Amino acid sequence: MSGLRVVFLGTSSAKPTLSRGLPAVALILDGVLVLFDCGEGTQLQFTRAGLRPSRLVLLCISHFHGDHINGIPGLLSTMNLDQHADPVTVMGPVGLKSYFRELRRLGIFQPRFPLTVLELDNKEREIRMDGFRVVADRVEHSLETWGFRFEEDSKPGRFNLDAARALGIPMGPLYGQLQHGEIVTLEDGRVIQPGEVLGAQRAGRVVAYVTDTRPCETALRLGQDADLLIHEATYARDMADQAAERRHSTSTEAAHIAARAGARKLVLTHLSPKYTDLTALIGEAREVFPNTQVAKDLVEIEILPRE
Ligand SMILES: [Zn+2]
Ligand SMILES: [Zn+2]
Repeated sequence: MSGLRVVFLGTSSAKPTLSRGLPAVALILDGVLVLFDCGEGTQLQFTRAGLRPSRLVLLCISHFHGDHINGIPGLLSTMNLDQHADPVTVMGPVGLKSYFRELRRLGIFQPRFPLTVLELDNKEREIRMDGFRVVADRVEHSLETWGFRFEEDSKPGRFNLDAARALGIPMGPLYGQLQHGEIVTLEDGRVIQPGEVLGAQRAGRVVAYVTDTRPCETALRLGQDADLLIHEATYARDMADQAAERRHSTSTEAAHIAARAGARKLVLTHLSPKYTDLTALIGEAREVFPNTQVAKDLVEIEILPRE
């Protein structure tokens, strides 16, 4: 199976610090890039991470708080300057279409490449692209906010050479057809089903991006059985009251979601700039869900194929 990696471009909340930019997470599958949120400074982080904006096919916006969206015009304007020509889709809350209309009307950004804007609602909650889909669902924040679940398509099972030889299938194009799930007919008239020479289907990898939110059932659904759950942890336990009041989560709450969802790994992000020492925040989460990591800007995580 091909490479899938996640690069954290911005991991602070509300305002940037010297070491943390504003929310943005890039996911790269076979050279194609999906971006979750686009805080101010994201395009510079692309450069620092060695990522090319021209790879961007899909931008998922969680909500309209400025820390999550103020990098959009800059990033897309640079793509214009770079003569980007391939289609890009942006999906996010209702209001996204008028946001782009205003950017255009004021002359801030006029796309010179095909740009599709998809507003999420009760019906529109999913986008399919080559090799994957992204599903969105409403989470619980102080304004309309969406969480996302990236699902790689499942892959056909491994080709069993011994089985193919035993069935007398001649080596060559028929192997490829069976590998692609096609039924083939041999010269002697026998019909071979792909299942006779292929192992069990291999499940695709799953990455969930859940910010900003209170811990909620939607977060659980989005993170169900995920290889990687990226969940906000704006605060440690010492600020649990503020977390509830401001509709955010503590690291402990995020860890409970990861544990209940059966996620394989949890990465905490959207950290309050007030914390210079994250020892408590990470320690508290690991008490609940040991495979927890705190995101850092420009850190990359490779997600290995499921076997
Ligand atoms: Zn935020
Ligand atoms: Zn917010």
